This record gives sequence, structure tokens and C-alpha cells, in this order.
Amino acid sequence: MQTFTHLRPSHSVNFGAKILHLKPKCFPTFISKDQNIQSMKPARQALFSVLLLFTTYSATAQLQYLHCGRLIDCAGDEVREKVTVIVDEKTIKEVRDGYARAGEEVEIIDLTEYTVLPGLMDMHVHLEGESNPNSYLDRFRLNDADVALRATVYARRTLMAGFTTVRDLGGSGVNVSLRNAINQGYVDGPRIFTAEKAIGTTGGHADPTNGARKGLMDYAGPEVGVINGPDEAWQAVRQRYQNGADLIKITATGGVLSLAKDGSNPQFTLEEAAAIVQAAKDYGMTTAAHAHGSEGMKRAVLAGITSIEHGTMMTEEVMDLMIEKGTYFVPTISAGKFVADKAKEEGYFPAIIVPKALAIGPQIQETFAKAYKKGVKIAFGTDCGVSPHGDNAKEFLYMTEAGMPPMEAIRSATVATAELLGISGRLGTIEEGKLADIIAVKGNPLENIETLLEVEFVMKEGKVYKGKGR
Ligand SMILES: [Zn+2]
Repeated sequence: MQTFTHLRPSHSVNFGAKILHLKPKCFPTFISKDQNIQSMKPARQALFSVLLLFTTYSATAQLQYLHCGRLIDCAGDEVREKVTVIVDEKTIKEVRDGYARAGEEVEIIDLTEYTVLPGLMDMHVHLEGESNPNSYLDRFRLNDADVALRATVYARRTLMAGFTTVRDLGGSGVNVSLRNAINQGYVDGPRIFTAEKAIGTTGGHADPTNGARKGLMDYAGPEVGVINGPDEAWQAVRQRYQNGADLIKITATGGVLSLAKDGSNPQFTLEEAAAIVQAAKDYGMTTAAHAHGSEGMKRAVLAGITSIEHGTMMTEEVMDLMIEKGTYFVPTISAGKFVADKAKEEGYFPAIIVPKALAIGPQIQETFAKAYKKGVKIAFGTDCGVSPHGDNAKEFLYMTEAGMPPMEAIRSATVATAELLGISGRLGTIEEGKLADIIAVKGNPLENIETLLEVEFVMKEGKVYKGKGR
């Protein structure tokens, strides 16, 4: 696998001052993954670091002209042909009809054979892990560093699949460090909005002590996201704020994958859910509620939650309430299908999980179909981490299979997700002034949604991470 980069560490170039004046287009090349700065001698590393600063600066200072054969900008339903998207550093400067050309200072990216779209967004992932038959033991075996190193792989895979923004809806807190490492340029990955550790109630989904023998772990309280009563709800939200969370996730009902009997019972009182939402608002945070059963879901919606995750047994009453309150539904059909499939494999899940996975998993797609038809606001989300990272786009197949037109499915992963995150001013469409998160696929996803499974070009904030056609 080759990675596009502006750097060329393996070639003998003059590391003196002169090189810094070279036009950045002299640098772009393909290097393989194993060629990196670590393999260089220390003296060269130092010089290279200086060079890195300058090349990064000059490379981003150059305008990039993306010649797009077809453009789905998501600003409207219109599909444009033969368009140039002009990127100035991190931002889209202009979208111009025709294939524009300019002087030597401009870098042309040839996507004339591609359909170009805004970077995709997934509102429900867990980048700290990926389910496997050892997942339950891994909790006791892995250190944070192990989790973090694996998470970098999952993050990169997600970005390369065309997902430039994600919400991480719960892990151990390593997801905060991962977000920071990506923002600071240490690791390639999507822009992360993280819930840090999800908040649950004692014995509920997200209680980290579930399934462990007495005395093995300390009693779990608000600090680790387990609350009982409104006061502890406030404390847990404030703790998440201090820990660096961007938003708050609660587990409003039981869950399929927790070591507990019930996968759908309500697990927050209305007062507890309301306290969570109010506390989150005070700290400028939105809220997401994992929910399978309708009673817990209803309480979360009444409390003013921003989004319902999974929504498996959503009733008409809850749908109406969500429409009235403007609550988003993040379906995660992928997770439902994945767990139902794996529950049939002997030994993949602990025995207590199997009946829950078989009962809950297959229902989500049907619920999604009903909710969509009824007019509930849908924001794209997969729960990748349950299903494999990088398979995010499979959700598009399931959504269209359930009756959502391809253009709407794409908008649910761009426009709707930007609205949910409150970042519509910066992302979600390809328009002048927006951040340059841009992807491209061969073929036309409006005719064949499966093309979204093969994203061949990925740009995030003006930097190309995956690219062809240069
Ligand atoms: Zn989840």
C-alpha cells in the first residue's frame, strides 16, 4: 500500500538552505509505509525536521485545483459535471465551472474520472477497539498503550475509507489522547468528537465492573461514568468535561454486548437523564443516548437528548416525540447485522450475549425504514468497533436497501451529521469557505451506492492522505 505524501526522505536531496526555496511540487511523490523519519540517522533527522516544517508550510501555501469529473457538493440535490474545486491551504476557496488552469504555482489534481463528494462523517464509532472472540478478556489484559497503538490503526483505516470526521461514542479515555494526537499531526485519522467514557448506571450498559467477580475491581462511581441519581449525573458530566470530552454519551437502556441479562430495559430515570442533558448544556456539550427499548428511549428524548443511537424498538410514539423535539436518529444497522451474524458462530460471544444479539440485531434495519418514512431526522452512524473499522460505508448499502434514496443517504453522512455536530458552517458540503474535506470514488454512487466502499481519494483540511490521478 502506498501513501501519498509531500515528503521524500529516502532520496538524496540537499538538506541545506537552498532546498527550502524549491517549489513544493518538486516534493510530491509516493513513498511506502516503511520509509519514514525513524529510519534516518540522528543528524539527518534533525535537519529533516526543519525541512518538514518548511515543506509543510510551502506545500499548503500552494493552491490546489481539483478537476472533478462529477461533483456531489451536498449543498443541494444537484450533481455538477466538469468542475474545479480550488483549495487554498485548509479551505475551499472557490468552486468553478469547467477545468480551470492557472500558472505554475497551482497544483492540479486530476479527478476527471471520479465523482467527488464531501468527506463522510460517522456519528457512532469506537476507535479504541474492534470486537473479536477475545474482546471480553482483552479488557483485563491490555494496557492503555496497547489500546492506543491499535486505535491508531483503526483511525487510519477509517480515514482511508473516506470518513474524515467521526464521533467516538465511548471508550476508556484513550480516545481523547487519540483525538489530540490526530489534531497535532502525530497520527493520521479522522477529526474526532469524543464522548470519552460513556455514562451508565450501576449494573447497566457501560458499567465497567459488569461480569467481573466481586472484589476484582473497585466500586464504579461517577468518575468512571457510573451514576445513581441526578447529583452523580452532574458529577460525571463535569468529570468528562475535565477529562477532555467533546460530548456526553449515556446508555439509556441495556445493551447487547454488556455482560448483563437485559438488552433493552430502561436504565436511567427521567430525572437522571434530564440532569445529564442540563449539565452537558452548561458545558457546551451535546448528548447521545444508546437505546434499544422504547421506555428508556422515550425518557432520553423527553430529557432533551441530541441523538438516539440504535433505536431498535422505537415505537410510533417515540418517533413522533423525536420529530417534535428535533432529535436525531443514528441507526447503526451495521452493528445490528454484525452481532446477529456473529451470535450464530459458536463461542464468538459469551453465552449471556447470544440471545440478546439474535433478538435485537436484526430489528434495526426495519426500525430505520419506519423512522425514515415517518420523517425522523437521520444522521449516519455505524458503531464500527463492533463491526470492523473501515467498513463504515456498508451502512449506505443497508440504508438504501431499506428505502432511503442514495442522495439522501449521502446527505445523512454529510449535511445531517454536520448539523448534529453543530459544525455546518465549516463542514458537510463542498462550498466556498468550508474546510477542504473532500473524497472521490470511481463511478457514480447515485447509480451504484457500492462505489462508496472504494474511496480512492481522501483530502482532510487540504492535505491529501490517499490519492490517485496526480
Ligand atoms: Zn456503540
